[in-house]
Amino acid sequence: MDLKTLIRNIPDFPKPGIMFRDITTLLNNAEGLRYTIDSLTEKCLELDLKPDHIVGMESRGFLFGVPLAYQLNVGFIPVRKPGKLPAAVHTIKYDLEYGTDKLEIHQDAVAAHHKVLIVDDLIATGGTAKATADLLQKIGCEVLGFAFIIELVDLKGRRQLPDLPIISLVQY
Ligand code: 5GP
Repeated sequence: MDLKTLIRNIPDFPKPGIMFRDITTLLNNAEGLRYTIDSLTEKCLELDLKPDHIVGMESRGFLFGVPLAYQLNVGFIPVRKPGKLPAAVHTIKYDLEYGTDKLEIHQDAVAAHHKVLIVDDLIATGGTAKATADLLQKIGCEVLGFAFIIELVDLKGRRQLPDLPIISLVQY
């Protein structure tokens, strides 16, 4: 299946000059959704990735991370923007093009030495995925790899990430 036919391209969103890859049209398609989750699952099995948890980033990482966790029979842990998680959190601050941002994870969600796979819908510059990996490594988790639906190859996001398996189903 050609997933690109199900991903909608929206020019000038959220800013002029940006071509936004909209995955809501993929989620909306039953066959496409099943194919996406089955493909992610297969690639994890091929690479022999056996995480204890899937970690997904707010908010589109949740949409693909939870069904992948279900398929791999492991738990899911959300990483969220500041102030959204109700219990005690670990926080990481990271640089954006202009300014900084933060990501948080519940302190009791993971323990040192847990093996995790990081899932998001898309990797662009790699900043979000790198910050998530740094956060997990700071806690003492073992990051096994990364899985994305979409990779924006020209932005070279994978160069930001540690030398670990990186799954991406569609490249632009
Ligand atoms: P990065 O940190 O790699 O530069 O950006 C990746 C993050 O931005 C992901 O969490 C992703 O959801 C979001 N993102 C950036 N551009 C797009 C896009 O064109 N489409 C979608 N669906 N998400 C995007």
